Parts: sequence; C-alpha cells; structure tokens
Amino acid sequence: MVLVTVVDEPTTAPGLDSRRIGELAGAAATDVRSREAVFSIDDLSVRYSGALALNGATLSVHKNAVTAFIGPSGCGKSTFIRCLNRMNDLIPGADVSGKVLYHGRDLYASEVDPVEVRRRIGMVFQKPNPFPKSIFDNVAFGPRVLGMKEDLSGRVERTLQQAALWDEVKDRLKENALGLSGGQQQRLCIARALAVEPDVILMDEPASALDPISTTRIEDLIHQLKNDYTIAIVTHNMQQAARVADMTAFFSVEIRDDGKGRHGILVEYDLTTKIFTNPGDKRTEDYVTGRFG
Ligand code: ADP
Repeated sequence: MVLVTVVDEPTTAPGLDSRRIGELAGAAATDVRSREAVFSIDDLSVRYSGALALNGATLSVHKNAVTAFIGPSGCGKSTFIRCLNRMNDLIPGADVSGKVLYHGRDLYASEVDPVEVRRRIGMVFQKPNPFPKSIFDNVAFGPRVLGMKEDLSGRVERTLQQAALWDEVKDRLKENALGLSGGQQQRLCIARALAVEPDVILMDEPASALDPISTTRIEDLIHQLKNDYTIAIVTHNMQQAARVADMTAFFSVEIRDDGKGRHGILVEYDLTTKIFTNPGDKRTEDYVTGRFG
C-alpha cells in the first residue's frame, strides 16, 4: 500500500527516484538472513565524553552479504560501524556499551587483541588514504607488518586483481600511489585491506568523494567481493544502498524527552527491497521517499 503511494508521487529530493530504487532493490533481493551471523549486535550504545551519540542498536550482519547503513547526517552510522572493528577504541572519550559478538565471541572481551581484530575486519574510509609509497608497497605493507612474507609479489598481484586494479597498475607498481586517480586510490585502499586476508570489510562512504564512473567501479567491486567477504557500508546515497546492499539499516536522530540532546537510533533493519518498497516504519518511509533528511 505504501509502495503505490510512494512511487506515484514525485519525490521532494532532487535526483531521487523511488521507482528506480525499488527496482534496483528488488533485483538485488535474496534473503541472506538464513546465513550465519558474522556480527550479532545487541543494545549497542556509544557516548563521546559522556554525551550519548548512539542509543541501543540491535541487529545482525550476515555472512557474504552487503549490509548498508543509511540515515541523515549525525545519526551515528559511522559511530556504529566503527564499533565493528573497535576503531572507537582509538577515539579519546568514546565509550561503547552493549554487546558485539563476532562469530559468537565477544569482540570487546579483555583477551581480544584489537590489532588482530582490525586485520580480520578491515576498513576503507571516505577519502582514499594511500601511504605516500609505491603502489606495490601500499599493498605489501600489511602483509610485511604481519610477517606474511611468502610470495609477496604473488600476493600483491592477486590482491590487485581482486580489487579490479591490476590491469591499470601492473606496469607501474613502483610508482607513487599518490599519482593514481581518486578512484584508483580507493581501489588501492581496498586492495590494502584485502592483502591481509580479512573476513569483513567495513566501508565508510567509500565512493562519496568519487566521480560517477569511479563510483560505479567501486559498486561493481563490492558486488564481486561479497562472494568472498562480508561487507558493511555506510552511505548517504540511497540509490547506492539499493544497488549494492542485501540488507539495509535505517538510522535516525531522536531528540531526548528533556529536549536537552539528540542521539542516533536504529529505526528499522530489513531486506533492502523491503526498506525501499514497503518499510514498516513511517520514519523510514519519509526518509526513503525524500520527504525528510
Ligand atoms: P553519521 O555517520 O551518521 O553522520 P556520526 O557517527 O559521525 O554520524 O556521528 C554521530 C554523533 O556522534 C554526532 O553527534 C557526532 O557529532 C558525534 N561524534 C562522532 N564522532 C565523534 C568524535 N570523534 N568525537 C565526539 N563526537 C563525535
């Protein structure tokens, strides 16, 4: 019922086409919820210097699926995915409460080594951040640090192939990575994350600084990578979520009862096709149809 109303009305957000989003989401729909939960997150809250930023999020991230996190700026999307590889540990004043189980084990248990966590659960950021080193050395960096020295050139080649960059860089591996285009740099950063054989790749707005063609290449790459990896992606681009994600979580901002603050909450989490065509919550509907946000 919602769908009929939504697709027949023009959206208020320029460039946002609900009908197209629904089609894209439908094409990508497979029920991945029967797959193993790589992360089981229960009542996750984060405070920065005592101020609540994210309140009580509960969801599971499934194996070999792409899970997208969408919502207005400041609703805690980045905060949430940083909890999945303990990146918030590196932020002074950040305090995480609730449970994050990774393959059934408490990610925040005292015996867990955060460095090993970040090897298994790699991260790619909004702005490509290659090291000011050669293309080869960027990919070889992690394996060298971790002592994965066997057949290093073979590993670099295979990883660059996986990141759909090999053909463009195979004759210039010794050149500085900063000479690559923005889109190539981002694929290099993905290669750098893949080189240490992770299980999960977290991506925080990985294409938002890129042109449309480079964005498409990253999205194509995400499609391929989910055969071998579990992917969680923050994006402010709803069409992108519809194109790449099996599951989508919509976060929003809630004003506290006393009016003295705002914090992020998880509003709805479901199959991407459901979120974009028949959401269960009015707030999700308003957001995905461009009436809000
Ligand atoms: P989103 O990714 O949805 O834009 P963020 O997770 O970046 O949201 O931010 C959620 C809230 O947490 C915001 O109010 C933001 O100001 C705050 N916040 C994020 N990172 C920090 C930080 N490093 N220090 C203090 N506050 C932060």
